[in-house]
This record gives sequence, C-alpha cells and structure tokens, in this order.
Amino acid sequence: RGTVLLQVRVAQISAQNILVLAEDRTEARRVELIRRDFVVNVSHELKTPVGALALLAETVQDAADDPVAVRRFTERMQREAARLSALVQEIIELSRLQVAGALKAVTTVPVRDVIDEAVDRARTTAQGKGITITTGGELDAVVYGDHALLVTALRNLLDNAVAYSNQGTRVGVGVSIASGAGLVEIAVVDQGIGIAPDSQDRVFERFYRVDPARSRDTGGTGLGLSIVKHIAADHGGEVTMWSEPGRGSTFTLRIPAAHESTVIVVDDELDL
Ligand code: ADP
Repeated sequence: RGTVLLQVRVAQISAQNILVLAEDRTEARRVELIRRDFVVNVSHELKTPVGALALLAETVQDAADDPVAVRRFTERMQREAARLSALVQEIIELSRLQVAGALKAVTTVPVRDVIDEAVDRARTTAQGKGITITTGGELDAVVYGDHALLVTALRNLLDNAVAYSNQGTRVGVGVSIASGAGLVEIAVVDQGIGIAPDSQDRVFERFYRVDPARSRDTGGTGLGLSIVKHIAADHGGEVTMWSEPGRGSTFTLRIPAAHESTVIVVDDELDL
C-alpha cells in the first residue's frame, strides 16, 4: 500500500509497564502535502495578475499624455482585476469545500430548478457566441443535495462547454436516471474543441489547463473542474468525462436520487 507514516509515542507508566501509542499519520500527512502544494500554486497564480496590474499601472503613467493609450491600458487593467477577483472567489470556494461538512443546506432538490438557474446564468455568454443551450430528459428528477452548490457545479460545466466551443454550436443538458445505482445523471454535452487523450485524466486537477493561453482568454482560473469534483464527491456522487478532440466533450455529474417516500414491498405470500 506504499509508505505508511506512523507516529509512535512511548510512555513509562510504572516500573514494569510502558505504554506504546502508534498513530497512523499517513492520511494526515497526505492532506498536509496537498495543502502545502495548494498554497504554493495559489501564490504563483496570484502573482500573474498582480504583476500584470502593476506593469499596466506603470505603463498608464508613462502614457498619461495619450488618451487613446490610457483608455486601452485601463481597459486591460479592468480585465486583469476581474480575473483576479474571479480567481480569489474560486480559491475561497475551493477552500470552503475542502473543509469537511461543506454541504450546508441538504434537502430534496428538483433537478429542473438547478438546471434552470445554471442555464439562465450561462445564457448571456452563450448568446454572445451564438451558442444555443437545450435541455431535455428526465427533468422531473429529484436529487438529495445542496441546491446552491449543485447550481455552482452545473454552472462551471456549462461555462466550460460554452468557453471551449466555437460560434454557432450547440450545448445540451440531458438528465437521466440510473435507478439501479440510485443516481441521477446530468450530462453537459458540447460540440467544442474537445480534450486530447493525455490531458483527459488531468483536467480535474487544480490549476490544470490544457491550453493556458486559451483558458486565460476566456477568463478561466483552472479551478472550475476541481470545484465540480469536490461538489460531486461531497454529495456522495461523482463527475466523469468523455471527449474526442475536434468533436466535443461530455461531462456527466452523478448525484444520489432523492426518494420522496420509501415504498416497502410486502410479500404477503411469505409465511413468516
Ligand atoms: P478553466 O477555468 O481553465 O476552464 P477548469 O478546471 O474548468 O478550468 O478546466 C480545466 C481545463 O480543462 C480547461 O482549461 C480546459 O483546457 C479543459 N476543459 C474543461 N472543460 C472543457 C470542455 N468542455 N471542452 C474542452 N476543454 C475543456
């Protein structure tokens, strides 16, 4: 199983007896390393927009006599500031999810409500690119979860579907019920650029981007899919993907179905 980290403490409790306490610290150490890694990554990611802002401010000062240049540079400053703000917001969201018990308001949630809200918020950007978002399938399904977090998860998938698709394509949101597994599946299907096979395993990692330049252009932070993964896992569900470069991608969110009432089937032929 790899290396196990044991913390051993020894105490003499009487002339003849010693007490040995061994604690398995493997998991704690793993979490600590992930945290440290995260802090290093965050500092690195924050440096880029902050550096750009500092440089732009200097440039504006130098170009004070040229109103056209001032306008161009201040617009770029606004874009950098918006990116910085989105990044900070996602870092906070992810840190909140990494703390146990992130699900606050767990109730039965109609999937239609989650989809309506997420699609509504993604629609403006989609319309700007001439992308139509359609919904279909078992929209009456009900899941058990945190409404706000489910909207965040679906919103992230929709934002990506729109960001990594070309003008005039379609994005579909389809719901199906995997009743055997007690899960509701929400699939976001796009006809976008797709993801190369060797990047497919990595897209759920924090700050991983297939094409950093493109992600930056679309205002991506590289945190969206790791947020979705956390939300799915916190619900006792999962998120998976399928993709073919040049054809598109499908991201499927699986969340436990809610049962309004439990039906107990009594077999009255059975002689107990
Ligand atoms: P970002 O903020 O960069 O979009 P994500 O964590 O949401 O970060 O996604 C990680 C990377 O996975 C993206 O930078 C992009 O390269 C790739 N990706 C995510 N969704 C899609 C999609 N629907 N189509 C193509 N590539 C995608």
